[in-house]
Amino acid sequence: MFNPLDFSHEADLTIEELCRRVKNTNPDADLELLKKAYEFAELHHRPQKRSSGEPYIIHPLNVAATLIKLKMDLESIAGGLLHDVVEDCDVSEEEIEKEFGEEIRDIVVGCTKISKIKFKTKEESQAENFRKMVVAMAKDIRVIIVKLADRMHNMLTLQYVSKEKQNKKAQETLDIYVPLASRLGINSVKSELEDLCLRFLHPEVYYRLAEKVAMKKSEREKYIKDVVREITEKLSEYSMKGDVSGRSKHFFSIYKKMENRGVDFDQIQDLLAFRIISANITECYKALGIIHSSYTPVPGRFKDYIAIPKVNNYQSLHTTVIGPKAARIEIQIRTQEMHEVAETGVAAHWAYKEKGKKIPNKLKWVEELMEYNRDIKKSSEFMDVVKNDLDMGGIFVFTPEGDVKELRYGSTPLDFAYAVHTDVGNRCVGAKINGKMVPLKYKMKSGDTVEILTSKTQVPSKDWLKIVKTSRARTKIKQHLLKIERQKNKTLGEEVLEKALKEFSTNIKSLDKKGELKKAYDVLHVKNAEELCLHLGSGRFNVKHVLQNISSIDYKEEEQDQNKTKKIESLYSKISQSAKRTSNSDNAVVVDGMDDIEVRMGRCCNPIPGDPIIGFITRGRGITIHTKSCQRVLEIEDIRKIEVEWNSAYSFRHPVNIRVITHDRPGILSRITNNLHGNSVNIKSAIAKSLPDLKGSFLFEIEVKDYAEFLKVVSIIESMEEVISVTRT
Ligand code: MN
Repeated sequence: MFNPLDFSHEADLTIEELCRRVKNTNPDADLELLKKAYEFAELHHRPQKRSSGEPYIIHPLNVAATLIKLKMDLESIAGGLLHDVVEDCDVSEEEIEKEFGEEIRDIVVGCTKISKIKFKTKEESQAENFRKMVVAMAKDIRVIIVKLADRMHNMLTLQYVSKEKQNKKAQETLDIYVPLASRLGINSVKSELEDLCLRFLHPEVYYRLAEKVAMKKSEREKYIKDVVREITEKLSEYSMKGDVSGRSKHFFSIYKKMENRGVDFDQIQDLLAFRIISANITECYKALGIIHSSYTPVPGRFKDYIAIPKVNNYQSLHTTVIGPKAARIEIQIRTQEMHEVAETGVAAHWAYKEKGKKIPNKLKWVEELMEYNRDIKKSSEFMDVVKNDLDMGGIFVFTPEGDVKELRYGSTPLDFAYAVHTDVGNRCVGAKINGKMVPLKYKMKSGDTVEILTSKTQVPSKDWLKIVKTSRARTKIKQHLLKIERQKNKTLGEEVLEKALKEFSTNIKSLDKKGELKKAYDVLHVKNAEELCLHLGSGRFNVKHVLQNISSIDYKEEEQDQNKTKKIESLYSKISQSAKRTSNSDNAVVVDGMDDIEVRMGRCCNPIPGDPIIGFITRGRGITIHTKSCQRVLEIEDIRKIEVEWNSAYSFRHPVNIRVITHDRPGILSRITNNLHGNSVNIKSAIAKSLPDLKGSFLFEIEVKDYAEFLKVVSIIESMEEVISVTRT
């Protein structure tokens, strides 16, 4: 006889009872581990009470009981007993690991992390939560199953908390936990959670259904008994055995039917569901034949999930027929194995977990969950948001080992390589996505497994800057290019200076030793010979400059013999040419006609192309660019100022901070960000604050190409009705 799993709150549950249940299904189980987990949890929770007034430990005990019903493994059950000790009792992760090992620690820590996700009722953030749950699951699905058991018990005892909290928890359960339970195929948990959600979200519907069903209870029970007997008899006429059972349907599924068809409770006919458990698949189809020849099938209601299983592996035959007394009844036919999967879903895998046997591939499940996101986003508004979020925010891809990396939408294998490690990025020569070779510019999708191919001889190239999407990769590539460039400049500068000094029968080393380069360092604002050569090589200084500032060298341009001057001038032009050759569109700013000098934007004013600018020669850090109106301009000595202009070939984006003051209206932040995203403006960060006079203050860091684009962004925001002011900060 089939019994749906009963998850009711058990007020008198003890650890001894739990151990007895575990022993029933698993005689070899290490009960000492469970007892130890219980004692640990009981000790730490001892001062606490549930909202119901019961000792707190009754909650972990019930969570563990649910996990036993789902036939989860010992680690999960122990995790269930301990799931609240880190969050509620300030027990450290290390202590859990010390007492119970890494596996149980990971389960407890995972549960704690999920608890800390700030759930909001806004749909945008639900999508974000959903993603976080998926990522949590990527590590170990058992975390989610323990969390589902936790949520189940909280829902079962939700009557003890405030109405407001009831609504919040129930909505969250319906939006996040029910889809997860469904996806993991744990239908028993899914149905129970749904009914509990209905009870708290639509109590009028729930209690009306309960009342109606209760009124007809004895009548209904007799009917169920009759039908079960009738079907069993019909099966045996064909010498078939089948375990037949019946029940009334879950309230939530009735409610959904009422909603979908816009009908009242009285018009809902198929309130009863029957189930036949057959010996094997052939018997299932035979049983279906017997049912369809005995009762009139309702057209369009037959579904063959045995031939075509649901994405969560659910298998069964479904049909609706006109049963005795002209009542519509739904009949599900499946094997015992299919039934176990239907009730406990992914948890069923642990039920038969043998020693040493691998737990199902965590990666595959997450991949499927990603697919699930894609599948249902068409119809459901909630998933629409998830889709949006996945599109705008980022993608999840996997290392061959199954670790998750979150990257920006449109990221390439090169971004992934830099996300793994700078060295992996720098040496990346290619990538395999899901086992196939792809070009480096391939745009990755959520769920892709990425394997990076590296070579010791590989070095980053400038073209990579056009491929990558993440700022981390871009920064690392630029850093590397700059390093190579500096090395090259240093060598060139050294070569040039040595040659020039040779004309005066000396060299860098001996001059430096005698301290005769000190004056040149001071005048040219450099620290040492290395820096001197670097700037000489980059063309920022010329050789004459350096020579003029070396006291032991009597360098006078006009008086030098023609030959020497020519030689030195040719050295200078060598540098200039080299500088021109290496000139490129990488720098935002052109300095004195050359653009391969290290240039930084002043953090104080964040100049963007189009702003009037001026450069400052810094000590050893190239040139810093400020807007002409920047406060710093007044503070810096004139001698260090240098004329600069924007490089028209430069096309990278610049960060700029803007402050937006708005009337404080719900959803204003998301409207602004959606508006900007809709106009392809990249927002790097946003900080929101409520001001006392019912105003909101938002600080955005956005990226713009130039001043014109910045003005466009300002006008986009300004045009919004709730916005009071927009200022650059
Ligand atoms: Mn809990």
